Order: sequence, then C-alpha cells, then structure tokens
Amino acid sequence: MAQRPIAVLDAHIANRIAAGEVIERPASAVKELMENALDAGARRIEVEIRGGGKEYIRVSDDGAGIPAAEVPLAFERHATSKIRTADDLFAVATLGFRGEALPSIAAVAEVEMRTRTADSLQGTRYVIVAGQPQEAGPVGAPVGTTVIVRRLFFNTPARYKFLRTDATEKRYVADVAARLALARPDVAVRLLADGRELLATPGDGRLMSAALAIYGPQAARELLPVALEAEGIAVEGLVARPTWHHGNRERLTVVLNGRAIQSPAVARAIEKGYDTLLPSRRFPVGVVHITMDPRAVDVNVHPAKAEVRFRDDSLVFRVVLRAVREGLLGANLVAGLAPGEAVPPPVPPAGGGRAPGFQVRESYGPPPRLRQHEPPNAGESPQAHAPLGSQEPAGGQGLSHAQDLGGTDPWATDAEGEDARRQLREMTVLGQLHRTYILGETPAGLWIVDQHVAHERVLYERLLRAAAGGQADVQQLLMPVTITLAPAQAGLAEQFQAELQQVGLILEPFGGRTYLLRGVPVPLAGAGAGELQQLVEEVLAACAAEGAWRPHEVCARLACRAAIKAGQPLEPRQMQQLLADLSQAENPFACPHGRPIVMTVSRSLLARRFGRH
Ligand code: ADP
Ligand code: MG
Repeated sequence: MAQRPIAVLDAHIANRIAAGEVIERPASAVKELMENALDAGARRIEVEIRGGGKEYIRVSDDGAGIPAAEVPLAFERHATSKIRTADDLFAVATLGFRGEALPSIAAVAEVEMRTRTADSLQGTRYVIVAGQPQEAGPVGAPVGTTVIVRRLFFNTPARYKFLRTDATEKRYVADVAARLALARPDVAVRLLADGRELLATPGDGRLMSAALAIYGPQAARELLPVALEAEGIAVEGLVARPTWHHGNRERLTVVLNGRAIQSPAVARAIEKGYDTLLPSRRFPVGVVHITMDPRAVDVNVHPAKAEVRFRDDSLVFRVVLRAVREGLLGANLVAGLAPGEAVPPPVPPAGGGRAPGFQVRESYGPPPRLRQHEPPNAGESPQAHAPLGSQEPAGGQGLSHAQDLGGTDPWATDAEGEDARRQLREMTVLGQLHRTYILGETPAGLWIVDQHVAHERVLYERLLRAAAGGQADVQQLLMPVTITLAPAQAGLAEQFQAELQQVGLILEPFGGRTYLLRGVPVPLAGAGAGELQQLVEEVLAACAAEGAWRPHEVCARLACRAAIKAGQPLEPRQMQQLLADLSQAENPFACPHGRPIVMTVSRSLLARRFGRH
C-alpha cells in the first residue's frame, strides 16, 4: 500500500482524537461540565442523565454564564478564559485550563448550550453537532449555563462500543458527582438519573452534610474528623473508623486545593495512617482535603487532570499520615465514648498529639483555600455532635440517605433503609421536643425526627406523584389572589401555565403582568396571599434555571412552604400519622435538598453511657 503524504490533521479529526483522551465515557463528560460550572462560580449544579449518560446528559449551573460573543469560541480548541500565559500553568487555581473539554465533547456528540451572563438581558442558545455549529441565537434563559449532551459517541462507534452497560455508566457518573460534591461542600450538587434522585447535597459548606448525603446514615457515626496544619499544608476531612472499610480505594476521596484528584501517594499516606488497623487488602473510606501552595503542585500531568505531581511527595505524605493518625487516635482518647469496638492506639501521639476534644473545621469555600491562621474550631458543625452531649461523634446516627434506594448506586445501602422504615412504622411516640422534634422509641433505641423536614419529604413525594399522574388535588380559592410578576417571570408563567396547573397552581392571566391565582395544591390551602405570591415567584425562579419545567424543584418548594414548621405544637395523633407517612416515603432519610430527617441514639449506646453493660 502506498504511503500517504504527511498532512496536518483536519481540525475535526484532531478533535475527535483528543476527545478520546479527555472524554472516555459519559462520566468524563459530566466531570468536565461540572468542573466548568464550578470554575464559573456556581452555587448550585444540577446534573441529569438518561441511559447511563449515553443518551442524554444535562448539566445546569447558576454560575457566571458566557457572553454571547464568546460562546462559539468556547467550543474552539485551546480556547480558555482561565489561563493566558505559560506561567499561569504553574499556579492554576481553576479546575479547567486547557480549553479542551467543550470542543472534545462537541466533536463526538450533539451539544446544546444555553447561557446568560448577569449583565445581559438575553441568553444565548448554541447547537453544535460533531464539531459543526448548527444554530446560534438569542433565547430566554436564567443567569448561568446549561449544557445538554445527546448521543455521546454517535459518530465514533469504536468508542461507543467500548462503553459498559447503562447501569455501570450510571455508577461512574454517580461516583464523579459524589467526589465533586465532597470536594466542594459549599456547592449544592444534585444528580438525577432517569428521573430518580441519586444524590443531593445541601451546599451548606459543611463537609459532614455532604458526607451524609453521599455515604448515607453511617457517615454520622462512623466518620471521624481529621484536622492538622503543618509545614505549610492544611489537611482536614473525615475518615472512617477502622471498622468501616472498602474493598478498593473507590470510597476515598482526596481533594487538593478544591480539586478531586487521584493520588496514589496521598492514598498510601492515608492507608499508612491506619497502619495495622485495617484488615489486609481493605481500604479506608472518607474524604481528605489538602490545601497547600498551588505552586508546589503540578496538575498538568494527566489528560483528564485527575492526577497531580507534588514538588515534595514525602512532605505531603508525612503531613497527611500524621493528620490521619492523630484523627484516629484523638477519637480513641475520648475514653469510653468510642462505640463497642475499641481501637488500639497505633502509635503514641506524634509531636505531642492533640487535645482529645478537637473539632474539625467544617466551613468550606472555593479554592484555593490557604487559611493559615484560622483558629481550628471556627465554624464547627452541630452535626458532628451527638444529641447526648460532648465529644461523641459516634453516639447518634444521622440518617440521611439521599440516594437511590434501588441499590444501583455505588454509595447506597438499602438494607438499612428497609430496617429504618420498619422501625418508623413500629415506633411509639414519646412526645415532642422544643416543638420541633418528634421523640420516639423502638426496641433499637431513641429516635429523633425533625418534624418539618419529615413532613416536607412526605409532601414532596406526594406532590410529585400527583403531578406525574396529572391529578394534583386542588383547593379552589374563594377569593382569588392577585399576583403581579416581574417581566421575565410573567413570560415563564405563560410558558408553564399547563405545568403549573398539573402541580395544582391554577394561575390565570389577568392582563399585563398580573395573574389571578384561583387554586392551590390542597396542602397549601391555608397559606396567606403574601405567602402565595412569594411561592409562585419561587416556583418560577426554580424553573428559570434552564428555561425548562423542573417538577422536582417545584414540588420541593411547594412542600417546603406547606410543611409543618418548627415551633408548631403537634398532638400525639398527628405525630404518629406523620411517622406512618414517613415510613411509606420512597426516601425517608433526607429532605428534597438533602437535610437529614432522622437521628437515632441506640439502646446499646444508652446502656454504655449509663454503665449498664
Ligand atoms: P477550560 O475549562 O479548560 O477553559 P473548556 O473547553 O472546558 O475549557 O471551556 C472553555 C471555556 O468556556 C472556559 O474557559 C469558559 O470560559 C467557558 N465555559 C465553559 N463552561 C462554562 C460554564 N458552565 N460557565 C461559564 N463559562 C463556561
Ligand atoms: Mg473545562
């Protein structure tokens, strides 16, 4: 065969080849898109996939958006707003920087972007298929960016063939989303797969909140705080008691300057921190944040930027090892409070050790986070503490289980779910605490249920089901409420009139930007006019998030408004009913935004605390 002449590759082909490096599977596309959202300063990121992400991926953020003129540029190779000179490469503070992701994804899929910046009245819609721009034009859109990726690898069959089953690809996506959520507890991350919520972190900045939403109930009782600052490196995080381990390193998340990374060196340091405490061939569970001078790290060594190179490996190793070791040791020094299985101290406290009563700092912000001089106790988390008192992270177990109970999710634990449901059903109500929590007893111990979030969860699921079946229970209002909307919202009200009706909000145009609210979902029957005006605005704002109807978000808002509030006295009968309803919920563990609903104090803990064993 005659050899062909050398030629520079056509740009489209070059992009397809590059795509192979950066975009291996749906999860890699999700990772790049979520990282772009984080770089754009998003506070909330919603990811939705269908068919394991092969069929459909949507990533929506409320970040800065892209100016109309720059949208086509964003899809060009090596176009980036993040670095300008080679020197910048040595102090990369953003997650992306090579300008490869969008062109790589667009080269092998159908991509649609909708984006708007705060100073622009209109958004931009841009469609690009197999690297060929198709459409560009103005569109009504909220501030932020939505990227939709359809039919990934449709034009690269070899790559498509290499993908695994939908369920497996979905697991990879869930893993990526979980790691990014753990890397950035200050950002609310939500993942929907085929219409089911797999994950929802509250974005309240507390690592424990994110961990609860991701690892499930055992996080509260099993994770120990780690916090150490030495030699210019800050290490903080949550690592599992040695009794909770995993068959590989998948459940360990390492975060460097806000970037979730794979680092065999750091993983080894953490494992070494456990020393002999873990059975052989078992691996630690947890999340460890490392903050250090970005100039001491090279992140530009891996196509997907997943691996990093430290200037001084042994320094990082030393500090991480010590942090983990002291964390484990600290827990054990709290005499008698560790649950049953006592952990033998692996080593004497290095360099004087730490006072037993430490608490982890759990307030996270965007990277880089070099906070050298903060007091170690700032922003301590109430969730790191048990209900019974002092230093007892193991005493209570928050049940927050924001995952798919179907069991396809890598982080899910469904046996616990069924058990909790049964206990909720069989619980005897003891009373109400602070007019906020329901106290109940089961043979297993004391249960504390937050009445507001419990009710919120129940209503949320009901509203969602009713809306999906097209039969919301509507309460007609005797006196319609007049609602005046801002121009952008009035447009949305028009656009979504039918959908609003489906959830039970009967909104009738009344000229201009004025509407008459004639009916509301039954649970909201008692709401006042002001509250209803606010509610309609909230619902529309939630949908504005990508100019599309968002039933989950809408029902979450309705449920929150309609739910029993904290401070409301409840009759025993009402409490019993609420618990029975909760036990029927698909997910009785977390409110739609990821807050925990239930906390338990086990009978055995009580016995131990009172010296009864
Ligand atoms: P990189 O992230 O390496 O810069 P990408 O191809 O991922 O490259 O993105 C190209 C550019 O598009 C980014 O530098 C940024 O300016 C813009 N961009 C991409 N996604 C978003 C987003 N979600 N919000 C705002 N800007 C974005
Ligand atoms: Mg990027």
